Amino acid sequence: MKKRKSIIQCSLLTTCVTLFLAGVCFIQSSFRAVAEDEKKKFAQVESLKKIVKPESEWRKTLTPEQYRVVRRQGTERAFTGTYWNNKAKGMYHCVACDLPLFSSDTKYKSGTGWPSYWQPVKKEHVGEKIDRGFFSTRTEVVCNRCDGHLGHVFNDGPRPTGLRYCINSASLKFRKKTETNKTPKKAKPAQK
Ligand SMILES: [Zn+2]
Repeated sequence: MKKRKSIIQCSLLTTCVTLFLAGVCFIQSSFRAVAEDEKKKFAQVESLKKIVKPESEWRKTLTPEQYRVVRRQGTERAFTGTYWNNKAKGMYHCVACDLPLFSSDTKYKSGTGWPSYWQPVKKEHVGEKIDRGFFSTRTEVVCNRCDGHLGHVFNDGPRPTGLRYCINSASLKFRKKTETNKTPKKAKPAQK
């Protein structure tokens, strides 16, 4: 009888220890998952860390036309840029710092002679500034990492956003879609 009692006690203890260890493992793995999430978030923020360089450095890495548009808020002549009529699938990056800015999925034919998109690939990648010219006030759009000038955004775009991002080809570098670098099939409107 005494032996039986001690066997029961022993197996109860073993069960308790096993449950305790399983609990510890579960908590540890949960903490690890949270830490991974934090790491990912940090990496995302890190990728948008501002790039600040002296103008002499930008002059070295950009062509004279790119420099005039990107660093001096210039505008290329309509129907002269590389991408206004580009229909290939892929991603348009900032020519100065390589941040992805616009997907070909949101490019459309605006008839203006400049590459036009109805939405940036990520809202936080494209910044906006008020551009007060001599005759009008427009909204300038810039790369949010290097502050390079891209073009302007207007309210006469197509659905679903109704926006027209009118961008200089000189501010962009196109990367064609490949099997290993697939962009999402359908672009969804960004959440406001
Ligand atoms: Zn940039």
